[in-house]
Amino acid sequence: MEFAAFASRAAEIEAEPADLAIVSLVGDLLADADDDLPVVARFVQGRVFPAWDDRKLDVGPNTVYAAIARAAGPNVDADDVEDRLADRGEIGAVAASYDFGGQQGLAAFGAGGGGDLTVASVYDELETLAATEGSGSDDTKLDILFGLFNRASSEEARFLARLVLSEMRIGVGEGTVRDAIAEAFDRHTETVERAVQVTNDYGLVAETARDADETALTDLSLTVGRPIQAMLAQAGTAAGALESWDEVAVETKFDGARVQVHWDGEDVTIFSRNMEDVTAALPEIVETVRADCSAPAILDGEVVAVDDEGDPLPFQQVLRRFRRKHDVAKARADVEVELRAFDCLHASGEDLLDQPLVTRHERLSAVLDSGVADLTLTDDPDEVADVEADALAAGHEGIMLKDPESTYSPGKRGKRWRKRKPDVETLDCVVTGAEWGEGRRAKLLGTFEISVRTPDGPGEFEPIGKVATGVTDEQLEELTTLLEPHVRGQEGQTVDIEPVVVFEVGYEEIQTSPTYGSGYALRFPRFVAVRDDKAVADAESLERVERLAAAQH
Ligand code: AMP
Repeated sequence: MEFAAFASRAAEIEAEPADLAIVSLVGDLLADADDDLPVVARFVQGRVFPAWDDRKLDVGPNTVYAAIARAAGPNVDADDVEDRLADRGEIGAVAASYDFGGQQGLAAFGAGGGGDLTVASVYDELETLAATEGSGSDDTKLDILFGLFNRASSEEARFLARLVLSEMRIGVGEGTVRDAIAEAFDRHTETVERAVQVTNDYGLVAETARDADETALTDLSLTVGRPIQAMLAQAGTAAGALESWDEVAVETKFDGARVQVHWDGEDVTIFSRNMEDVTAALPEIVETVRADCSAPAILDGEVVAVDDEGDPLPFQQVLRRFRRKHDVAKARADVEVELRAFDCLHASGEDLLDQPLVTRHERLSAVLDSGVADLTLTDDPDEVADVEADALAAGHEGIMLKDPESTYSPGKRGKRWRKRKPDVETLDCVVTGAEWGEGRRAKLLGTFEISVRTPDGPGEFEPIGKVATGVTDEQLEELTTLLEPHVRGQEGQTVDIEPVVVFEVGYEEIQTSPTYGSGYALRFPRFVAVRDDKAVADAESLERVERLAAAQH
């Protein structure tokens, strides 16, 4: 396909306001693309390479301005290009405003000012450009771009400039191309979508849709070594998750960097969430996978930084390792990283995306011997709270709540994976009671009754909940020492405590409730700290609780 033909179709698409009409125009373009179909399916989205391919053009705006200026003639310099950009606001319009061709070096490129560029030749030049690196590469890139602009008509230059700067913006997103492929080659949209998810390659999907049947499209599968998009999570609450599903799969939310690990039995390749190849920066993950992964697989997980005891370090420490290209060995000596794998997309030649989460987790445990994240299946709110308390006590960020039946949806931020919202606010509550523990904890006070001030006057409190989570054994001992002198009475295991101590308490939600004297109950209350800087008179009032409860909805 002539590049001029592509450019004129792109102009037509840009001028079309209606989404459905855009899909048809893109469909027509794809249907007419012949051998250039894979490239056209990407160019029309402003993409040069498939999403799985981490090659980049890596040209800055200044190089593009300089190339445009050089192709525009001796009287134009990069400043002039920038002035016009300030004026017109968009690089395509600027490029189209010059008259190209006939400049120095022209003989080397054949004709000038339009006519001989094809989609294939533009792609070839851009491939060369992407492969250019090392010293002098800026000059070479400038030369290549100059060569392209010098051969471009004004309409071609408009879309060339936008393409190389990833600013196509003709109203064609991934969904448009998906629908256009389905329409042009008479395939089901869902089949096309699925094929794109597993291959991450619109070119391949378009070609398969055109040249083979629907089954071939369905048969497209994951390729070990080619990253796909990660499944993402929405914010959610433990209460909401327990209401949505019969059981909840609870996992630690690790504070690190997302990775997709591909192991084909010979090589390990590690990709970041943006599908960049970060293998070289993480040699110990490569070693772990080589040693502990018993079959070819694609794993999903988080890379975390750990201290000498294996406890998690803050996210910033991971960043000191991630994407590092130089002095990796030295960085490794400073900060050690480990893999926490929580999903398995492919194992032993089998794609697992359509399997339920619990099955994928079983496959993960079967294939990987170390670093597999624990998964707790439960329908018990207390157990969810316990997992969370353990995760927080171990220094992790919180918990993830997942639908045990959910399949893996690449690139989707759906409701089937939820990250538990950090507590919106904390409340300073007065401790008015507690319960003696059992067994190992028989000599310790736990399950603290917490209360808020009522309008009835100073010293009047009504309970709003019981806090049993968020407290380590060591803290329980300290709290017992602190509270025991204030015990006023006991009935069975339950003690009544004089209101003198203030706890800071996190929670998920405030509900109205007949259970407690305040008429409210905190959902998922969690001990945060003793506020010894606060007197009980400074504790939360019932009035404020009423306001917070009303503001939630
Ligand atoms: P956020 O970045 O706040 O949108 O939270 C989602 C991110 O949490 C994911 O992209 C992962 O990088 C990270 N994460 C940590 N632990 C898990 C886990 N067990 N399951 C899924 N994602 C996790």
